[in-house]
Amino acid sequence: MRLATGLRSLWRAKVNRRSIYTAAQTSPVDEYRKRMLPQFAYEPFASRHIGPRPDEVNNMLALLGYANMEPFIANVLPQDLPECSSGVEMKGLPVPLTESEMLATIRHYASMNKIKKSYIGLGYYGTITPAVIQRCILENPAWYTQYTPYQPEISQGRLESLLNFQTMISELTGMEVANASLLDEGTAAAEAMVMLFYHGGQKKPLFLVDRMIFPQTIACLQTRAEFFGIKIKLINREDDIDSDAFGVLFQYPDILGGINIYNCIQKAKSRGVGVVCAADLLALCMLKSPGSIGADVVVGSTQRFGVPMGYGGPHAAYFAARDEYRRKFPGRIVGISQDAAGRRALRLTLQTREQHIRRDKATSNICTAQALLANVAAMYAIYHGPLGLKKIASRVHQQAVLVANAAQKFGHDLINECFFDTVIIKPKTSITAAEMKKLAESYNVLLGSIGDEMVSISLDETVTDEDIKILLNILAMQPDLQSDVFAILEGTPSGAIGIPDEMKRNDNFMPQNVFNSYHSETEMMRYMNQLQSKDLSLVHSMIPLGSCTMKLNSATEMRTLSLPEFQDIHPFSPPANLGGYGLVMKELKEYLCAITGFEGVSLMPNSGAQGEYTGLLVMRAYHRASGQGSRNICLIPVSAHGTNPASATMAGLKVVPVKCNPMGGVELSDLEEKIKAHRDQLACIMITFPSTFGVFDEGMKRVAELVHTAGGLVYMDGANMNAQLGLCRPADFGVDVCHLNLHKTFCIPHGGGGPGAGPICVSAKLAPFLPTHPAIPHGSPKAIGPVSAAPFGSASILPISWAFIRMMGEDGLRKSSQIALLNANYMMKRLDGHYKILYQNPSKLCAHEFIIDCRPFKGTGNIDVLDIAKRLQVLHRV
Ligand SMILES: *Cc1c(COP(=O)(O)O)cnc(C)c1O
Repeated sequence: MRLATGLRSLWRAKVNRRSIYTAAQTSPVDEYRKRMLPQFAYEPFASRHIGPRPDEVNNMLALLGYANMEPFIANVLPQDLPECSSGVEMKGLPVPLTESEMLATIRHYASMNKIKKSYIGLGYYGTITPAVIQRCILENPAWYTQYTPYQPEISQGRLESLLNFQTMISELTGMEVANASLLDEGTAAAEAMVMLFYHGGQKKPLFLVDRMIFPQTIACLQTRAEFFGIKIKLINREDDIDSDAFGVLFQYPDILGGINIYNCIQKAKSRGVGVVCAADLLALCMLKSPGSIGADVVVGSTQRFGVPMGYGGPHAAYFAARDEYRRKFPGRIVGISQDAAGRRALRLTLQTREQHIRRDKATSNICTAQALLANVAAMYAIYHGPLGLKKIASRVHQQAVLVANAAQKFGHDLINECFFDTVIIKPKTSITAAEMKKLAESYNVLLGSIGDEMVSISLDETVTDEDIKILLNILAMQPDLQSDVFAILEGTPSGAIGIPDEMKRNDNFMPQNVFNSYHSETEMMRYMNQLQSKDLSLVHSMIPLGSCTMKLNSATEMRTLSLPEFQDIHPFSPPANLGGYGLVMKELKEYLCAITGFEGVSLMPNSGAQGEYTGLLVMRAYHRASGQGSRNICLIPVSAHGTNPASATMAGLKVVPVKCNPMGGVELSDLEEKIKAHRDQLACIMITFPSTFGVFDEGMKRVAELVHTAGGLVYMDGANMNAQLGLCRPADFGVDVCHLNLHKTFCIPHGGGGPGAGPICVSAKLAPFLPTHPAIPHGSPKAIGPVSAAPFGSASILPISWAFIRMMGEDGLRKSSQIALLNANYMMKRLDGHYKILYQNPSKLCAHEFIIDCRPFKGTGNIDVLDIAKRLQVLHRV
């Protein structure tokens, strides 16, 4: 009888298919589930995601002296959060879907995104990901689940791949040093500006920016410049270069497709002004390298080397410079060293420059970057080799020349005669630019625009003869133009437009073996597999880093990445065509609000550190709007992750450290003293909860009260949210802003050091200040400027986190945190007695991680932490 009712509900659900997708708290699916006999129930995803089986959970609890989960959790959590012991409600989370239901849902969402052929350009282009790279890297957990290669012994494969990336960048840009990726072109340009500023001793605060730069880059620079006290001045190419400036930025090719930056660079050099060039990699296969014409720093995106546009990201940005800047580089550099036996070995170099060590003296807060995407771009270059890349670049260029000739033939004005891949036209009088764009849309084509009068067309690797025909139809304003496009152009002069001889590249770039060896698919597959086999990832073992939660990146979650409707989308496409993205982002924000208790979310930050920076800017904007703009002190407990003080410094805040107590929490008396000393200047405290010492701070509520009473705000570093899901909500214990690392707690893979997504969640009073973006404005009038090049950051990986939450549901999420806490405490208990445990709460428990004290072994056996770490690596290998 009950089964029959169940089936009827299922039938109803089938008829009313959409109701599954909107999944209100009481959808027919939910009703059906409730009525189903338990023995026929679907396998919930949570039981696949969570490792320990029920009997193992009971055994672990028993070892810790607990009969069941609730009293254990109550003792782990701080005693001043009693309401949390049995778990908080996460209102607004939908009922969990099974894996196949989730896939059906996300496919339905995908169908609401309309793929259009994009010629918008502006740093984002169609590209073909070679299938062998897609399969062996992007879809391969041995590549995407890796952690940042801090331990060279188990990372030689990906270190070699990142070294290839650096070599490729050095070769194409003509620079001596390149790093192993940054977050995006806009922020890479900002890093270049800051690096030159520090290099010049911070004496001259003026930075010049060519007007021909991409608009999102200008916006990112302006956001970053403000709190460094840097003044940005937009200049024209013919302007004189102000010798008071410490640097100048040019785009190559620029927003009008133009490539004539040679004279400007020489002008800048003669005035002693540092030159940054934002350059397109494919163009550099044909154009003189920026290094060869005098640039000091070169930045840009590697997206069009095989990484789909993905509505804005993730893609790897690159950063390269002359050797003299080596010690001031942001991000990580892979270098060649020697192992104990004298053999060649790779490792991260200059690690002392990282924020972990330098803290508030760091000049950049880059931690997670875009390693996986850098690997894809490097492999793309390896697969095609220099000749293949030149061929692709030449084809794109030829198509651009053809389109430019056709445009003239059909009576439009060609604005730029020198170009690589981008043609700018002013339509003839019978049609406006807007009308031409509209006509294009009727062909499912997106053209770009420059002002109201000009149309821009950027060609790329994916453009076929058929696409060219369609473009010509649009330019001719005739739907049925004759099919032989080349005949149309007969007699049209060519060669006069395009790349002038003096700008053509004539050196042989990328001569290294690696770029000239793997051009068959078999060789390529073996090379990637050979590298992978040197590395350790989640396919081998656990990677026990507390806050850097290395959790399952489920195959089902990852399937969302393979949907072209999420991948082949230009970030500046009209949102009206992108209902699926709209829904995923809206729902994900709702879920994150339900989990944290907050009211507003920005998905723009591309990493945890970028989230910190964004949250701090939002707080500063709030203080300023309340007439408290001079508040500039940021309190940070000494236990904090190194990115916290680095981000605070970048936001123009002065860092004041706060001591910790023997239990790993904030030393309240020290906090009170520091607040007293800085009362009127106090902007905020940045606190990690549970702390990076591995305990829930017993005084958390009191900390928030003290800071609020002094007029400050509370920032919570939410990288440790894996310990809190469904147990407590930051908004309930006094936090005003937190970032979440979706690449830690919410299942986006680490990729060996990126991608990342670090959205911030804020209280209602801070929500109006969340960042907006010039291409897709989406904020209140009080919004701060963009912190990423793309409006919604790394949009294409957001469905992974959405899928995780959608399949886990409220109970599953809570259980995952309970088990994380149980696992850590079980391990601690087993090691207790053999090792000294540094921090525990009054119930002798830890949070999601714990620290053992290895210092005594130095005296007793001359063994230190590294020895233990290396022995663990050997054990992992067995
Ligand atoms: C990982 C982490 C960060 C930085 O996040 P990224 O995404 O690497 O920038 C900050 N704080 C804590 C506690 C972390 O674990």
